Amino acid sequence: MEDLFSVHYAEVGLKGKNRVFFEKRLVNNIKLALRGTGYAEVERLHDRILVHLGQSADITEVKRRLQGVMGIAYFQLACRTERDITAIKAAALRHIQNDAYESLKVETRRTDKTFPLTSPQVSAEVGGYLVQETGTRADMHTPDLVCWVKITHNAAYISTEKIPGIGGLPVGVSGKVLVMLSGGIDSPVAAWQMIKRGAKAVFIHFYSYPYTDKASLEKVIELVEILGVSNYRSTLYLVPFAELQQVIVAETPAPFRVVLYRRMMTRIAQRIATLANAEALVTGESLAQVASQTLTNLRTIEAIAELPILRPLIGEDKAEIIEKAQRIGTFDVSTRPHQDCCSLFVPKHPATRASLTELADAESSLDIDGLVEAALNNLEKQVVG
Ligand code: ATP
Ligand code: MG
Repeated sequence: MEDLFSVHYAEVGLKGKNRVFFEKRLVNNIKLALRGTGYAEVERLHDRILVHLGQSADITEVKRRLQGVMGIAYFQLACRTERDITAIKAAALRHIQNDAYESLKVETRRTDKTFPLTSPQVSAEVGGYLVQETGTRADMHTPDLVCWVKITHNAAYISTEKIPGIGGLPVGVSGKVLVMLSGGIDSPVAAWQMIKRGAKAVFIHFYSYPYTDKASLEKVIELVEILGVSNYRSTLYLVPFAELQQVIVAETPAPFRVVLYRRMMTRIAQRIATLANAEALVTGESLAQVASQTLTNLRTIEAIAELPILRPLIGEDKAEIIEKAQRIGTFDVSTRPHQDCCSLFVPKHPATRASLTELADAESSLDIDGLVEAALNNLEKQVVG
């Protein structure tokens, strides 16, 4: 008799080679998520994944961590035993001993029909035994507890509760993205949504220290740590931005500064994305949330982009984003005060409708390539998690 978690994923669209790739990645991610919990082994079967708990696993902690692994539809704590009705009865009794219930029902499924008893016969035998041993009653319609018996070609599994997983896809199956992480509320949520769709996230942060304090740097490191629950080990690129901002301030009209900062950030981020093998940039922009996020300004940022810029929050309200940030656990860090580099040296009323020609004009006095190279030379890389 052995305790294990039986992990199930949504199988829609998973066929052939794709499916093996997906499953192997999920197995690997489960192993990363369960480091330090004392689990024994993670095993891939043809339709699910088993987490063998062994003697020393912290079952509550394993359960908590599995709830955060992207790509899991649901999972169950199960007891595996021999294909023998006496063994199945004993395992079922042990499996439900800590549950609270007054009525129960047993449901059996056989994937191997050579087992000597039919499914209804197994349910009746095991159900009768449990009712007798626990002093509860059988209820076929609205039982407090359903005990599932599954009989396969080489073992029987007993389980009760189905624990919902987080859904999504295993991190890594959708390639890699470079997330522009600011320290604010939105960009960590944008990162989380992409990670949930199976993208491995690497992060970039621009900071204006010593013109601002170090708060944004400390915050992004903490945010990347929190996102690491789903993204695992993460690379964070830190780019000093103040010198470049000073050049922009000296050379260009004030109303365009925010958009010019964002265009420079995007140019630098693209280079780093290419170095890191990321295929897209991700931002936390949401349509018209602030002056730099009008359609016109988004377009002027997009105009210099060579990689796709993904904006998973573009159609979300601030309230929806805040609710997600609270659920993910990034909200409290994000709301600690910090000064973002984009707010440095900017006028009260930045341009909301800078045209492409006006921006090109404003940039004509800048040595764009030189500024990008200088930023890349001062880049710092950290591995978090
Ligand atoms: P957030 O809540 O993510 O800070 P925001 O509502 O403050 O977003 P902006 O300041 O206009 O909006 O920034 C829009 C997006 O630009 C951010 O979501 C982020 O993806 C990117 N960004 C802004 N500042 C930085 C920065 N210092 N480093 C990296 N990316 C940044
Ligand atoms: Mg911000």
